[in-house]
Amino acid sequence: MRHTKNAIHLVCALLVVGGTAHASWNKCPNGQKLRWKSGVVSMRLNATSFFQSPDATAAVASAIHEMNWTGSAVKYTLQSDTGDVGWLNGQNEIWRMPITDPDIIAWTGSWYWEDDCTFAETDIWFDTEQKWYPLTTNKKKLTAYGGPGLPLASVAIHELGHAQGDGHTADKYCVMGGSSTHVFSNGDDARFYPGEYLTYQSIKVYGKTTKNANDLGVVHWRHTGHDKKGYSTHGRCRVADKSLNVLTGIWKNGEPLYYVYPGQVVRAEFSFENRGKETTTAGVGWYYSSDDHVWTSDQLLATKTFNFGVDKVGTKWSPNLTVPLTAVPGTRALGAVVDFDSKINEPMEKNNATYTHVLVLTPDLRAVSISGPKKKKLKPGDSTVSVTIDVDKKNWGGKVPWEIRLSKNQTIGSKDKLLASGSTTNLAPQTIVVDLSGVKKGKYYWGLRLLAASHEDDLQDNTVTGNKIKITKKKK
Ligand SMILES: [Zn+2]
Repeated sequence: MRHTKNAIHLVCALLVVGGTAHASWNKCPNGQKLRWKSGVVSMRLNATSFFQSPDATAAVASAIHEMNWTGSAVKYTLQSDTGDVGWLNGQNEIWRMPITDPDIIAWTGSWYWEDDCTFAETDIWFDTEQKWYPLTTNKKKLTAYGGPGLPLASVAIHELGHAQGDGHTADKYCVMGGSSTHVFSNGDDARFYPGEYLTYQSIKVYGKTTKNANDLGVVHWRHTGHDKKGYSTHGRCRVADKSLNVLTGIWKNGEPLYYVYPGQVVRAEFSFENRGKETTTAGVGWYYSSDDHVWTSDQLLATKTFNFGVDKVGTKWSPNLTVPLTAVPGTRALGAVVDFDSKINEPMEKNNATYTHVLVLTPDLRAVSISGPKKKKLKPGDSTVSVTIDVDKKNWGGKVPWEIRLSKNQTIGSKDKLLASGSTTNLAPQTIVVDLSGVKKGKYYWGLRLLAASHEDDLQDNTVTGNKIKITKKKK
């Protein structure tokens, strides 16, 4: 039978109609999904035209490696190509050349046999003019984290998605949308990967791999919409109060930083992916960490079990998380670890944890006022009296520990006569009954003293002096 070769140019900017395209595999005119006949696609990286840098070659190799990890049966091989490059030369090549359209940074061109809708050849080009960043070891250089560098590995994964037949995705967190913000990170590490939705689409066309493809992951990115060209847009996950009102924060060093305080009940949002081939039940642990590398050795705040399908990314809010009362003020993190109890055998465990920065604020307790009985002279019959105390607090979700003392002078200290103590969460003025029967006669001032909260540094306002009283001698 005679094969007809047809050219379709899978140009990133040209595939989308009307800007509302949803996930779509490329199809032949007869409606069949385009695919490789063999499950192995041989790619050739052209050494002479490419970046002439081992890092750039390694970035493409890492993209190929990541593509070969998914639950899909389709796999790539990569070899070095030293000769000429060209379209329709029978080789699937990756090379670099100037692309004149300023909107296009990389391009995948493919040709297919019309009679059975299978690929004949696919080529990938990277624009010479772009400021490509080949490494992921310093994530601060990447655009997703405020840097200038366009991640080569991420765009390579996106183009390799086209090379197996996938189109663009607008309605999911997906590398086939905005690929530079489709990234895993924990601590200083960043890693680009194909992700759950590309894997799901690919499995529908090529079937499942026979290898162990278990791979759960979590990222601090979420789907936020799509741009006019039909690429999904991704934003950072958020931290909210228990009613899901997003907390106040700032952007610092290219990343969001949410204000929290010790004892505050919050909820943290993360996107969980099952990048494997089977639905999996797994536990998630949420953690408080003193730095932005989150792992199970950090302080566990809550757990929950989920059933992770392989068809959509699950962006989820955590259960209520209480910021530890011992949290030290400064930049810290809340994080999630999927399969925190290590029940699932995954070839890669490193991508199971991520973080969101929080700024722990410094607590401040304040003694507002204390007042005793109006009449100044207290007689033996008055030995039990009511005293009103009023306390306030800022940046502190714990109880406020208080003491009522009587002082000979207006300075209240720890050596003054202790009459009552307790702790409260009630910030309205409240009445406390105290017993004066053991107090010697004399003139005193009421004193309210608050014991410091963890890491409270301003203790000036923790004590307050009340009105003066006189206690007369006891009758016999
Ligand atoms: Zn594209």
